[in-house]
Amino acid sequence: MLQVADILGESVCDGLGLRTVVFLQGCPRHCKGCHNAALIPFEGGRAYTPAELAAAILQKLTPIHRGVTFSGGDPLAQAKELEQVIPLVRQERPDINIWVYTGYLYEDVKDYPVLRLIDVLVDGPFILEQRDISLPFKGSGNQRLIDVLQTLAQGSVAVLSL
Ligand code: SF4
Repeated sequence: MLQVADILGESVCDGLGLRTVVFLQGCPRHCKGCHNAALIPFEGGRAYTPAELAAAILQKLTPIHRGVTFSGGDPLAQAKELEQVIPLVRQERPDINIWVYTGYLYEDVKDYPVLRLIDVLVDGPFILEQRDISLPFKGSGNQRLIDVLQTLAQGSVAVLSL
């Protein structure tokens, strides 16, 4: 089961193009100034099976959606369950891309199988002292928009070029 705080059908702020955003409940970190502090506790939200969550996401996707973003909370705190959701979504919508936000560093999660299923990882905790609202799709300067496919192919972190 996955604990889900909310599913936003349409967003243009959580990755490139029109996207559906899934906010997973629960995060092991407590960053000062967290943008979504209500999603830090692991209790709360609604429980979904992987199939139920995939169906709920697919219901929100229109032909003009470019992707799905998993945010939170920290989606990688539920990495094993997420690993079951993504193939079900891709099976029906192979055209969309998948972004995942996490407070972990890429280097700490690079061996998670779910990394092989996604396109972009926005990594690192939010650091209030490095907050910069001019940065696209991230909150603080330490965070990286990582092109996962390119990173896996070259064996070192490749930052997404926007
Ligand atoms: S990693 Fe993100 S969700 Fe978790 S405490 Fe930090 S800012 Fe909040």
